[in-house]
Amino acid sequence: MSHSQQSGYIVCPHCDALYVQHTPEFGERAVCTRCRTVLIAPRRNAFIRILALSVTNLILVIAALFLPFLQISRAGFHNETSVMDAVLAFSDGPLFVLSLAVGALIVLVPMMRMLLTLYVLGPMVAGRAPARGAAKAFRLFEALKPWSMAEIFVLGCGVALVKVAALAQVHLGSAFWMMGVLVIVVLLQDNMMCRWSVWNALEKRS
Ligand SMILES: [Zn+2]
Repeated sequence: MSHSQQSGYIVCPHCDALYVQHTPEFGERAVCTRCRTVLIAPRRNAFIRILALSVTNLILVIAALFLPFLQISRAGFHNETSVMDAVLAFSDGPLFVLSLAVGALIVLVPMMRMLLTLYVLGPMVAGRAPARGAAKAFRLFEALKPWSMAEIFVLGCGVALVKVAALAQVHLGSAFWMMGVLVIVVLLQDNMMCRWSVWNALEKRS
C-alpha cells in the first residue's frame, strides 16, 4: 500500500475541526488537537492483518453459535445452552421480535461486518482494484459499528452468571470463551482499522 504525500484537507469526524492533511509515516498518528480523535493511523500490513482477524472472528462466531455456552446443574438436573438456544428462546411467543433483535445484534451484525471487511479489503490485499460497491460496503461497515453487540452479550451473561452461581452450579462452555476471545479480536481489529487509509486506498485504486 502506498502512502505518498497527498495535499488536501481532513475533517475530524467527531468535532468537525478542519486540518491541512499531512500523511503520517507508518506507526505515526495524526490526532485531532481539539478532541483527541485519531484521524489517521497508518500501519504496515494493516489490511492483511485486519483480514486475518476477520476470518478468525467469523470462525469464532459460527463455532460459538452451536457449541455449549453454559451448563447449569442443580440437584441432579442438568441443562446446556448454546448462543443459538439463547437467540431462539423467545421464538414461539409474542417475544419473537426480541428473538430477532438479539440474533441480529449479537450474531448477524458482527458477522456482516466481518464479511464486509473481507469484501472491501480482500481485493486490495490481493493487489487488485476494489470490488464493485466497495465504498458503499465500507460505509455500511462503519454505520453498523454501534449495532455490533457481541461484547454486551458476553458482559451481560457474565453479570447474570454471578447471580445464578449462588443458586446452581454453573460451568462455562467453550462458546463462552470463544465469545470472550471474539470481543478482544474485534477490539484489536477496530484499533487497527484506519478509516482514512481505507478510503485513501479505495480512491487510489478504483
Ligand atoms: Zn476533533
